[in-house]
Amino acid sequence: MSDPRSIVIIGAGECGIRAALTLRDEGYTGEIALIHGEAVEPYEKPPLSKPGLEGISIKPISGTDRVLKENIAVYHDQRVTTIERATKSVSLANGEMISYDRLLLATGARPRALMIDGHEIQQARLFRDYADAKAFFDVLSPDYRLTIIGGGFIGLELAAAARQRRVQTTVIESATRLLGRAVPEGLAARIEARHREEQVHFHIGQSVSSISPTRKVTLADGTDIMSDIILAGIGSIPNTELAEQCRLTIDNGVVVDATFRTSDPDIFAAGDCCSFPHALYGMKRMRLESWRAAQEQGAHAARAMLGASDPYQSVPWFWSDHYDLTLQIAGLPSEGVTMVTRMLDDESEILFHLDAEGRLVGASGLSRGNKIAKDIRLAEMLIANRSYPDQQALADPKLNLKSLLKA
Ligand SMILES: Cc1cc2nc3c(=O)[nH]c(=O)nc-3n(C[C@H](O)[C@H](O)[C@H](O)COP(=O)(O)OP(=O)(O)OC[C@H]3O[C@@H](n4cnc5c(N)ncnc54)[C@H](O)[C@@H]3O)c2cc1C
Repeated sequence: MSDPRSIVIIGAGECGIRAALTLRDEGYTGEIALIHGEAVEPYEKPPLSKPGLEGISIKPISGTDRVLKENIAVYHDQRVTTIERATKSVSLANGEMISYDRLLLATGARPRALMIDGHEIQQARLFRDYADAKAFFDVLSPDYRLTIIGGGFIGLELAAAARQRRVQTTVIESATRLLGRAVPEGLAARIEARHREEQVHFHIGQSVSSISPTRKVTLADGTDIMSDIILAGIGSIPNTELAEQCRLTIDNGVVVDATFRTSDPDIFAAGDCCSFPHALYGMKRMRLESWRAAQEQGAHAARAMLGASDPYQSVPWFWSDHYDLTLQIAGLPSEGVTMVTRMLDDESEILFHLDAEGRLVGASGLSRGNKIAKDIRLAEMLIANRSYPDQQALADPKLNLKSLLKA
């Protein structure tokens, strides 16, 4: 395959920015066009759901200032409307066409809208980008009643931000517990207890049966919840429309191989919009929505667009903040069948998740502040090394996990 002379990146989030900079770091001197679909400068998304009382502000993605110096053409506030594979070009909403030798889709994801009886419920706000966050926090005031539908990461982080502002906050979760998809039960229970301490009201195992025009939320058991603001945090949908339109393979995201190449050898996809086979987990296909994965995948895809063929095998890593509690997850706890607990002190614990053969496949921890960070980092290295650590050693808080790495 010939060396590319022009590369187009669609989306200037964490993934797209990192891809553009990596191309230059790798010595690529050809053209780069970065299509940024939003009107504000590229910004980090995690701070949007964890704002201090000073409110919402833009935190630029690290390296954005370098983009300007690296001869990268940024198309601000422009959306790609179509991809023409036959002519290897993309069209922008303003009619402009840009040709590519290689194309990267870094289009991210969008929140899932709340549907009841086949109708989208407009009263339930969604939360993903700066505009959503600004509109939400601009109207929140202490006398307001906020109802959050969905007890996942976004819903609960926003519940914490709302309680900091003394907003009456209710969370509705249809599953039997909070954070069901990604967080082990014991840690999820501690997070729930912390929210209850802050007077968040919960309706768990309850679905919403209707929402009136005056924002009365009625649950399946007949309970009415009067609300001033309603927010749905019920998961997200990968932005695959462009890929669908040009007939790439889609399956819970744009389907890519372990180098982020799609079913078209000149088109790549990475970050929240793609589903990829993870080399560390027996090529199991997954889609990650995490800040660090988006960066690492953008960098990996950039190298692959220049010809690298090594498979992506970074350990997944995610964090979430709730008041003074920080949750961190490395690897995939859901792949474990055995769990070993390491209590660091009364408030800080790490759970190690091992598969049937005793291989460490995940670690999840919760602490006040950042006390678990070092151990989670070491666990991540053990997971990356495909280690089979001694379980008693994992449980012993006095034993430095570094010694297991050496073993
Ligand atoms: C509120 C919030 C809080 C989060 N908190 C955490 C956290 O605490 N920890 C953690 O690990 N992760 C967190 N995440 C997840 C993390 O931020 C995302 O996984 C990451 O930002 C994804 O990066 P991305 O570049 O793949 O996608 P995005 O950041 O979504 O960027 C995609 C960009 O592509 C643009 N785009 C889409 N279609 C087009 C088009 N046709 N033309 C032009 N542009 C287009 C979009 O407008 C967007 O700007 C959070 C996410 C959100 C939304």
